[in-house]
Formats: sequence, C-alpha cells, structure tokens
Amino acid sequence: MRKKIVAGNWKCNTTVKEGVELAKSVNELVLTRGAKDVVVVLGTPFTHLNSVAESVDRNRIQIASQNCAAESKGAFTGEVSVSMIQSTGANYVILGHSERREYYNETSEILNKKLALILEQGLIPIYCCGEALTIREAGTQNEFVKQQLDETIFYLTEEQLLKIVIAYEPIWAIGTGKTATTQQAQDMLAYIRGLIAAKYSKSVAEEISILYGGSCSASNANELFSQPDIDGGLIGGASLKAEDFLSIINGY
Ligand code: PEP
Repeated sequence: MRKKIVAGNWKCNTTVKEGVELAKSVNELVLTRGAKDVVVVLGTPFTHLNSVAESVDRNRIQIASQNCAAESKGAFTGEVSVSMIQSTGANYVILGHSERREYYNETSEILNKKLALILEQGLIPIYCCGEALTIREAGTQNEFVKQQLDETIFYLTEEQLLKIVIAYEPIWAIGTGKTATTQQAQDMLAYIRGLIAAKYSKSVAEEISILYGGSCSASNANELFSQPDIDGGLIGGASLKAEDFLSIINGY
C-alpha cells in the first residue's frame, strides 16, 4: 500500500534556532497527537538540516533538503551536494519546486542530473510539477504536466521510479491562499497516475505516492486527503506553524 506523506517546505524562513524550536514543537505534537500512519517530513533550509535532524525522533520525523547540487562534488562554490545532505541525517530532497524552476532556471536537464545523484545516494526525491495560471486558463494543464514528466521522471527505470514521491503543485495555488478545488487536484493526480500506468504499469502507478501542494491548510486538508489519488500534501506556509501542520497531518 502506498504511503501517506505530509511534507513541510519551510522555504527561506527561520533562523537555525527558530527552526529547531519549530521542529521540536512539531515533534512533540506528532508524537503525542499525530496520525500514526502518516510519514511526516520537514523540509528545512540546508543550514538547519543537521540541527533539526538531531532534535526530532527520527523514527517518526523525516528530514528533507529543498534542493541539491547537480554535481557530486568539486569546484562548485556555494553548492551543497547530495552526500553532504545525507551526512546531515536528511533522507529526502524536494526537487524541481516551481520557485526553483522559475527563479533559478532549473531546467529538466538540470533536474535529471540531480535526480540521478539523489537516487544513486539512496535519498528520496519529492519531485514537484505543476502549471502556471495562464496554462490552467488555457485548459492545457494536462499536456504541460505530461511534458514535465516526459522530460524528467519518465526517463527513470521502473525500479528508480518506485523510489520517488511526486508532488503536483499548481503554481497559481502556491502561497496565494487560492487552493485548487478538490476536484481539480484529484483530477490531476488521477491523470498523473494514469500516465504512470500507461508508461510503466498499473501496479507501479498504484505504488507511488502523489501529493498535492498549494495553499493546503488545516481547513481544506481533510477534504483534499479524502480523494482516492491524493496521498498527502507538500505544505508551505502552514508548515511554519506547528499546530496548523499537525492539523494537516491529521487531515486523514
Ligand atoms: C509550496 O511552496 O510547496 C507550497 C505548497 O506552498 P503553500 O502551501 O504556502 O502554498
């Protein structure tokens, strides 16, 4: 059975001290009141990974970086490699977030290099995809998302694909307070699962966790997570408040 996952993406927020306090609060709430069958992931800035990893119960909370270098090591000033990330205790990498694609020109070619390194090192990529508002308004969101997948994760072998998590995040819903309707989210996730079934097999498609992200909150998580193809959420703003994040985790 595929995993239910709720992953926080803290983005460029919190100092290390604030991040550790937030992680400790989430840890306490998850241990005492959290849904037991949900995988909880904290996506912190690079600088926080190790301290956060050491301040939570690793049987219950997983740690993600929000990016990684496209090279394994060497003269790439300012970059953070997958093995460095792994050495902090983190075991997930959020990859291809629309903010990185848009502001840092992350192309499919770059994402493929990163994907290969993450999988080689045994970490789990949370691969993000999703369309801009103009594309949604033109009604071509399915074609757009299919192209993103065709250019990246659909190059993976079946064995590799089974190791990844996919997050569908319509750009128009990220940080805007404008969530996709439950039907829009379910339709896209079912579409992605159908693409996987056609390209690989139905059993592979049934194994892969696909998350929804975009203004997911304590008030809409329950409805979103009730859908058959929505296996959890990638959570931005609401992951910065421990109680809100817990409510989303308990949205199942
Ligand atoms: C995100 O950035 O991945 C995200 C889903 O943000 P928010 O929940 O704030 O819309």
